[in-house]
Amino acid sequence: MAKPVLWVVIPCYNEEQVLPITAPWFLKKIQELTEAEKISINSRILFVNDGSADKTWEIIRDLAAQDEHYIGICQSRNRGHQNAVLAGLMEAKDKCDITISIDCDGQDDINAMDRMVDEYLNGVEIVYGVRAKRDKDSFFKRFTAEGFYKFMKFLGAEVVFNHADYRLISARVLQHLADFEEVNIFLRGMVPLVGFQSATVTYDRAERLAGKSHYPLRKMLALAFNGITSLSVKPISLITSFGIGFSVVGLILMIWAVIRAIMGQTVVGWASTICIICLLGGIQLISIGILGQYIGKTYLETKHRPRYIISARTWEKEERKYLED
Ligand code: UDP
Ligand code: MG
Repeated sequence: MAKPVLWVVIPCYNEEQVLPITAPWFLKKIQELTEAEKISINSRILFVNDGSADKTWEIIRDLAAQDEHYIGICQSRNRGHQNAVLAGLMEAKDKCDITISIDCDGQDDINAMDRMVDEYLNGVEIVYGVRAKRDKDSFFKRFTAEGFYKFMKFLGAEVVFNHADYRLISARVLQHLADFEEVNIFLRGMVPLVGFQSATVTYDRAERLAGKSHYPLRKMLALAFNGITSLSVKPISLITSFGIGFSVVGLILMIWAVIRAIMGQTVVGWASTICIICLLGGIQLISIGILGQYIGKTYLETKHRPRYIISARTWEKEERKYLED
């Protein structure tokens, strides 16, 4: 009986320290799954070099030369984690039956792949890897991540709690994901929108093997903000609600002030006036800022720039071609 071809998609950015350690883990897992007759022997491990400045691409090329299961593509420059995963997924499209995306730093438990494949074999099209506990993450990372998921839920955007980008998706889902044409991508939010039957598998998230996280606070906030504005326009309606609320309070204050003035009870009222001006000024600036973000995003989307540019593939010769004389 035919078995599904699996492609494991692994984004790598400056990972020369971890790749030589984790690459054999992925290969071992593919071999185990093949021996268990769950996947085809034609399955592959696809590394996506996201414009690394270190030896990551050389390592990927060496791996590809060692074993045919290892393959790699190289992005022309660093475009960020989300774009790297998407580039890998789009490369895998039409070439496999299932993809599993996973980070290369050993934080996501490879053994959860068995359960993911089992779910697929039982008819599920999307399997989300969910972190059971985050005790290896710093308190700050845990706290901000949880706040983010709660806020997303409040905004009505569907994201799976404690799921990052470790997930299995079927070829069918991949075909539909390719129809999502946004340039600002947030895969965690896009994949649930595709629909189809989904399941979750939980795993314990480990510490990074070596190197350091590429998600410092600034990038984490940018990703969270991108996620929110990609999936929901509710912040704009919240601004409107705030505006209405403050206007009502303002109106009441105005009537009160006029009555006091008519009765000759004019108060100095400096402090309260300043407070209200400051508060309203702040809220207005934030509101304009949020609106500006949406307008900026619309502007960037209308350009339809490519989401990734692949400069090399391990299975293609890197040579310049000239036109015939
Ligand atoms: N990554 C990438 N491009 C980037 C940043 C990160 O491809 O610009 C990859 C990185 O090599 C890793 C994954 O994305 O495989 C997750 O990054 P990281 O481990 O730094 O994030 P964290 O786990 O700390 O959230
Ligand atoms: Mg990591």
